[in-house]
Amino acid sequence: MNVLVINCGSSSLKFQLIDSDSENVIAKGLCERIGIEGSRLVYTPVARGGEKVTLEEAMPDHTKAVQMVLDALTDAEHGVVKSLSEIEAVGHRIVHGGEKFASSTLLTEEVIAGIKECSDLAPLHNPANLIGIEACQKLMPGVPMVGVFDTAFHQTMPEKAYLYGIPYSYYREHKIRRYGFHGTSHKYVSQKAAELLGRPFEECKIVVCHLGNGASVSAVREGKCVDTSMGLTPLEGLIMGTRSGDMDPAIIEFIANKEGKSLEDIMKILNKESGVLGLSDGLSSDFRDLEDAYAKEGDEVGKRTLEAFCYRVAKYIGSYAVAMNGIDAICFTAGVGENSPLVRNLICENYLQFMGVELDQELNGKRGQDLVISKNEKGPKVLVIPTDEELMIARDTTALVK
Ligand code: ADP
Repeated sequence: MNVLVINCGSSSLKFQLIDSDSENVIAKGLCERIGIEGSRLVYTPVARGGEKVTLEEAMPDHTKAVQMVLDALTDAEHGVVKSLSEIEAVGHRIVHGGEKFASSTLLTEEVIAGIKECSDLAPLHNPANLIGIEACQKLMPGVPMVGVFDTAFHQTMPEKAYLYGIPYSYYREHKIRRYGFHGTSHKYVSQKAAELLGRPFEECKIVVCHLGNGASVSAVREGKCVDTSMGLTPLEGLIMGTRSGDMDPAIIEFIANKEGKSLEDIMKILNKESGVLGLSDGLSSDFRDLEDAYAKEGDEVGKRTLEAFCYRVAKYIGSYAVAMNGIDAICFTAGVGENSPLVRNLICENYLQFMGVELDQELNGKRGQDLVISKNEKGPKVLVIPTDEELMIARDTTALVK
């Protein structure tokens, strides 16, 4: 079955067309600058040799973007299907499912209303996801659609892990609690880890470190998420590309007083100007730049930034070893987790030796494949697993549509 996977942001739309029987990607691409001057579609018809095509055309809204994607997929020259009837289902990535959605769901009018209700919890993301759904409904009437939620995999967390130490009435009345994000990735990677370990998923204790521009860690015990580092919003937890992660909440009042900033200003700073970008004094949010700095003799900036980032990841791994009373595998995934031997080294060699972890440096230097990179017989195995959120969305969509 051909499934179109859509990941819609406020000014962008990423897509993949996947044959869910063979699990091959048929085509993929990205619409950028939707609603902004200079919009373009970058499209790769993988099944036709995979030469990139860039189409520059005004995209005033997401409907136009979806139209351009559908035109590209059916185009005589670089299309991959003869007609739209060959696209049998659409899977949409939805950021926040609140407590309503603990698994992927067929998109009915009632479900769409439920996603709207969750917009309060993700005011930047859910409305953009909904616009993508509406655009597809308009242009592909009758094609079944599925919503796959970033928060769903984490809904198995026990109360003790998702409650904050604030008045309980805030949970009761406003549903303020830990939700967690990147759930599709944490699920994919933890399942894959059990496969690589050659053990049933239901018997494993796995820590997944999803280290990308956004970054989160999760503890997966016996096939279920029992804790994760992101919270009500994706701001909590690790030090990220531009997000602060954990900090003393009183810092907000302190900055407001010292610098005369509004709450809105400070939230922008914590989301967009903090993390490794802020820690490196604005050098970069890209780990490749930070690694270059780190490699220079006498460099302070790269050193303090990467050390603070890695220390935080290691502390989370340690706390999840406690949460699960042991760990069988520690997995690294996403842009940094998959591609940075240095980051994996700084985490494993500096902090995890007490658990028995020892990396095989030759294997740690490889990339682009599922790999066990540790050489210890006892203690947790360390794995690198390239994540594939689109494939997970295609799988869930197929299962619900069939
Ligand atoms: P997101 O999906 O959150 O935007 P990704 O998972 O794509 O993030 O990760 C993006 C990050 O991965 C980049 O900011 C970059 O720092 C990092 N990255 C990509 N390639 C490398 C590499 N070869 N070495 C180190 N870091 C890398």
